[in-house]
Amino acid sequence: MTVLVNPKALSDQKPRDFKMLIDGQWVGSAESSALIERVAPSHGVVVSRYQSGSKVDAERAIAAARRAFDTGPWPRMTAAERSAVLLKAADLIAERSEELAYLDAIEAGKPIAQVRGEIAGSVDIWRYAAALARDLHGESYNTLGDVTLGVVLREAIGVVSIITPWNFPFLIVGQKLPFALAAGCTAVVKPSEMTSGSTIVLGEILLEAGVPAGVVNIVTGTGPEVGALLTSHPEVDMISFTGSTGVGKLTMTNAAQTLKKVSLELGGKNPQIVFPDADLDAFIDAAVFGAYFNAGECCNAGSRLILHKSIASDVVARIAELAKSVKVGDPLDSTTQVGAIITPQHLDKIAGYVAGAKRAGAEVAHGGETLDLGMGQFMAPTILSHVTPAMAVAREEVFGPVLSVLTFDTTAEAIEIANSIDYGLSAGVWSRDFDTCLTIGRRVRAGTVWMNTFMDGASELPFGGYKQSGLGRELGRHAVEDYTETKTLNMHIGSRTGWWMPRG
Ligand code: NAD
Repeated sequence: MTVLVNPKALSDQKPRDFKMLIDGQWVGSAESSALIERVAPSHGVVVSRYQSGSKVDAERAIAAARRAFDTGPWPRMTAAERSAVLLKAADLIAERSEELAYLDAIEAGKPIAQVRGEIAGSVDIWRYAAALARDLHGESYNTLGDVTLGVVLREAIGVVSIITPWNFPFLIVGQKLPFALAAGCTAVVKPSEMTSGSTIVLGEILLEAGVPAGVVNIVTGTGPEVGALLTSHPEVDMISFTGSTGVGKLTMTNAAQTLKKVSLELGGKNPQIVFPDADLDAFIDAAVFGAYFNAGECCNAGSRLILHKSIASDVVARIAELAKSVKVGDPLDSTTQVGAIITPQHLDKIAGYVAGAKRAGAEVAHGGETLDLGMGQFMAPTILSHVTPAMAVAREEVFGPVLSVLTFDTTAEAIEIANSIDYGLSAGVWSRDFDTCLTIGRRVRAGTVWMNTFMDGASELPFGGYKQSGLGRELGRHAVEDYTETKTLNMHIGSRTGWWMPRG
């Protein structure tokens, strides 16, 4: 039996109203007085109301960002000055972390203890970006002969559209915006229409930290209305998008019309490959964490276990035993480990994958059902055994607390199963044998491979996907460079001769 933490009715049910940030002003939509209402997935009541931004609002925001880039102070400041603003922002995020954590927990249904960790991680990323800002530099070539000096400049790329999903609302904008700002770019940010609150509070924080008007603009609204304009507008130089692979492809198509630079962080279906010599106690814990963290609504979810046949039935039984003690329920209770599912429609989709897997021959080793906690929508942590590589549940992103278990005999077979799908975001390998870990680490096509751990991260370590999991990398020491253009200054020393006049 899964331990439930029943949601308590919210004492203050008055929704919080949010405006949009355009050119340093807090504004409503220019065209629509309709509001987007966010119903808390855990409590079933409206908790936030955002402006229903339109194409006109998005155009105004892009124009403000363009002006701020072309003629404003931000790209012309010293890196030390920009860095100081980013450090101040990090301090203010830390000061307002409880408010931010509450917003993400109630709007996304995420456990509050987990979100506190995400906000702390975000503070670290803002500080890291502040440090990188001061180290952004180009190259010089003093090796091109007596008459030539070459200097390679790194220039801020310009106006960046930043589009984010609902599953890590505050963390993901923090993987993009501080690096864009560090480089000297200006931005228009569009958060998910389901979880815009914490991004809008970030706008308040950035103004207070000293970011000039127009440098960061935040437009709320839907993808087809606001997002589509942000990905196609000719005055936008770059798009940094995190979301589904389908919308990522659309983003690239839109961007192609004006050849914008595109950075994409997309879906995943991440395998954990487990060998019989692994520390199974450590792995069982990591398997439960990897599958059920953020209710499995996580691009990095370890949703595919690829177990050596000799250990499979024992491992499945032990994971099922541990899964029984996972606390599902009220995200505002700090003991909760698995919160609510983002929408009723998404819960139906998850349940549909489980039903489809059962019809295809998979067996439910634990969970498998939706949970009625009196309010909101919840799903039991689920384990499906006897899954085969061809099943949809083994190949597609379920984005829920559903773990699929596959088996292998040989290392080559494990690698083949791991690489047999369209995604390549991350993977895990568990073995006490160094050679086994390195072989898997080198052969599995994924942007991150964890060895004897899962879903650890650090601001210093690049993150992103192979194949249809994305394009480009976030974090790491090159993160600021991603928001730059490269310019060559080719300088001639002395009078130039050569074509009509003989050299010398
Ligand atoms: P989504 O693609 O539906 O939406 C993401 C964002 O794109 C939202 O802000 C949405 O409004 C916007 N959007 C929707 N249609 C658009 C359009 N036509 N043009 C421009 N923008 C549009 O994704 P989601 O459901 O919010 O998030 C879940 C997905 O995000 C999953 O696939 C998950 O794997 C992925 N994700 C990836 C990472 C990563 O780092 N690789 C991290 C988190 C989430």
